[in-house]
Amino acid sequence: MKSSRIPGFYNLSVEQRRDLLKNVLDFSSEDLDDLCINQPLSTETADKMIENVIGTFQLPLGLGLNFLVNGKEYVIPMAIEEASVVASASHIAKIVRSAGGFQTNATERIMIGQIQVIGCPNYQVAKQDLLDQKESLIKAANAAYPSIVNRGGGAGDLDIRILNEESNSKYGQMLVLHIYVDTRDAMGANIINTMVEAIAPIVEEITKGKVYLRILSNFADKCLARARCVIPPDLLATGDYSGEEVRDGVVHAYEFAESDPYRAVTHNKGIMNGIDPVVIATGNDWRAVEAGAHAYASRHGSYGSMTKWFKDENGNLVGEIELPMSVGTVGGATRVHPLAKLSLSIMDIKSAKELAQVIVAVGLAQNLGALKALATDGIQKGHMALHSRSVAIAAGASGEMIDIIAEKLIEQKEIRVGKAKELVEMYKK
Ligand code: NDP
Repeated sequence: MKSSRIPGFYNLSVEQRRDLLKNVLDFSSEDLDDLCINQPLSTETADKMIENVIGTFQLPLGLGLNFLVNGKEYVIPMAIEEASVVASASHIAKIVRSAGGFQTNATERIMIGQIQVIGCPNYQVAKQDLLDQKESLIKAANAAYPSIVNRGGGAGDLDIRILNEESNSKYGQMLVLHIYVDTRDAMGANIINTMVEAIAPIVEEITKGKVYLRILSNFADKCLARARCVIPPDLLATGDYSGEEVRDGVVHAYEFAESDPYRAVTHNKGIMNGIDPVVIATGNDWRAVEAGAHAYASRHGSYGSMTKWFKDENGNLVGEIELPMSVGTVGGATRVHPLAKLSLSIMDIKSAKELAQVIVAVGLAQNLGALKALATDGIQKGHMALHSRSVAIAAGASGEMIDIIAEKLIEQKEIRVGKAKELVEMYKK
């Protein structure tokens, strides 16, 4: 990729944007035409993916621009129905690139499988017996999925917890085995589920209890991705607001989210505005990512911000994010959905670890976009102007009428469907 800076991209037609993409990314016309126009996801493929198919459901696919992550340029496909998200991510990425870009890293990609055991005659003895058999259990798990071991991954460790040990506990006692599996470039649900089902009979034999659930945990707290940015205040100045005012407003907004779950939920929704579209565009399981991210935001006992914003000793605004990111570049829909394959090649992603890091960088950018707007002009000014075309369509506008009505709504500062309907009626007369 030459550069993810493509000035004026916003003002181009869809056709012109595709042409530019071909030049910048060296895609052939056939690749893009086939995937974007002719056959994004055929009904035949869809019918093989889920049950009772009657068609496909489409979302707009836009490009987040200007991203510089660990010195590498990224054009980022984002599948989302909400106006202003892609523009805001690109706007912040442009600011951050002027400050050197995002720095990211990730842990090893260790996913967790759980086995629930009930009715052990003695839970402490069962726990110790399982720990004594650790090596053979890990060996058995790997024997159930040898190909992941051949790929350099596989089960590497396990531990045991006993839940509800207290005599006054509301729920019954149970033993839970966690097996830790390096799933390489796969999200790994099927790998893990195969392993835990395979070793469940051995676990029953050892514990003399009965195994119930055998399944992956979506609380992927050993599969973390992190991003960071450091922004000098002069890059944050906007309108009548100085960079210092914007910086302080962002820090106050973060402290609000950390102190109040009513705010934290909305704050984090804004972060997921950046994360989900990339997860979806790459064919990954966004419910798994959502569930893990929100659980991680509660890991200290109360629900807080997924990001951290503070002023460093030089007066810079520092942003940090750390989240579980159970995404893959193989498996699931990533290689089945043609647009997922296209998205991964647009980003030029080489591994699941790399994808996870880019995704959290987009989440951090999106968060700053929202906080910067909220701490200054408010969210509606930029958002509603970009939303005006959807409002016009919802009011019945079509073709060239859409832009005309949208402009009138912005001019008259009344971006709402009722007003748009009046304008549509007037236009038709
Ligand atoms: P798949 O089973 O579809 O694919 C993973 C397989 O890809 C691996 O087992 C491996 O098989 C192959 N592969 C090829 N290259 C690599 C590589 N470099 N690294 C790792 N594996 C590679 O997907 P997952 O196991 O990742 O499961 C994800 C799917 O499971 C998603 O669709 C998700 O929605 C779904 N799911 C999610 C659940 C949850 O979140 N709770 C529960 C159940 C399912 P081989 O070695 O044989 O080639």
